[in-house]
Amino acid sequence: MRKHKILIMEDGDLGASIAGVFKAIGPQNLKDKRVLVKPNMLRPARPDECVVTDPEIIAKTVSFLVAEGADVVVGDNPMPDRKYPHETEVAECCGFIDASQQRFRNIGKYSKRVKTPKNLLKEFYVSREILDCDLIVSLPKYKTHELTTMTLSVKNHFGIIPGGFKPYVHSLFPGIEDFSRVLVEIYQIRPPDIIIMDCLRIVDAKGTKFNPGKIIAGDNGHAVDYACALMAGINPLRIPTVRIALDEGLFDPAKIEYIGRLEKIRGFSLPFAFPFRNSVVEFVSRILYRIWLGRVPIIDSRVCTRCSSCENVCPPRAVKRQQVDYGKCIKCYCCLEVCPVQAIKIKFKIT
Ligand code: SF4
Ligand code: SF4
Repeated sequence: MRKHKILIMEDGDLGASIAGVFKAIGPQNLKDKRVLVKPNMLRPARPDECVVTDPEIIAKTVSFLVAEGADVVVGDNPMPDRKYPHETEVAECCGFIDASQQRFRNIGKYSKRVKTPKNLLKEFYVSREILDCDLIVSLPKYKTHELTTMTLSVKNHFGIIPGGFKPYVHSLFPGIEDFSRVLVEIYQIRPPDIIIMDCLRIVDAKGTKFNPGKIIAGDNGHAVDYACALMAGINPLRIPTVRIALDEGLFDPAKIEYIGRLEKIRGFSLPFAFPFRNSVVEFVSRILYRIWLGRVPIIDSRVCTRCSSCENVCPPRAVKRQQVDYGKCIKCYCCLEVCPVQAIKIKFKIT
């Protein structure tokens, strides 16, 4: 196994740091390469909430790639909600539209079925952009997570599957161990080529904000996550995806070469580990995701113009003559995105 370079860059000129990352670990010729930049767009959130990727990192990454002649798309596909039913509205709220130089796109709109019979998740849908691009640049946010302790590079890549299909996967694998294994499996379908972790302004499990002003970069997400856990002051094997990746031989901590100072973030708190914590979190998650699965697309026949766009875009072919087969629907909400007259709304329905 070759060495994993991990670059820890701080303060100073963010644009120069990002250029330095590409020089150290990226392809040197980016001209005409189709590059997908994948930030973390968990939910509509202002940058100062520190739960989505800082728009500044997106802006500097896009500027660098465009200057190098790359064809850049910035994309994610979070789950829409009633207030923000369309992805671009979520991106606008997060500051991603301007940061991306208007290159933001809903990558969940067109997806492709992937069969992985040897994996826990035997079949799922992946954004076509992920499978078709030449290079993926992942921009995860450094943050904590109730289920997996921290949510880092591997969890950010869960966003390659369409919007509402994510809670479906959660509901199939509510256990922390199985869900983490599924995350690693999805990550390995098409791992990112470069990871630039946003550790500029962060928030811990108690809500305390920190300003480390750092980016942590590498070309192996498991090694980046290992380094991030060390910075949080925990044994990296406490993060299930790191432990599983190590067991599977997907990285080797002994092969990590740190460039820059690997320092602990003093006072950074992680989710409280009480007895039976995992069982409680799994139980609550199972209920929440079951409730979420009741959110289905409903077509208003009074508004519908019978254009068939929803039928054509639906990955599992669940729409036929403006009727949704909820047994087949995977809740990706692509139909919602393509409907030209907003005839489709998300509503709770017992199916
Ligand atoms: S009907 Fe099809 S496109 Fe719409 S949410 Fe369901 S699976 Fe996705
Ligand atoms: S996309 Fe909208 S208008 Fe077109 S058929 Fe579907 S619901 Fe009707």
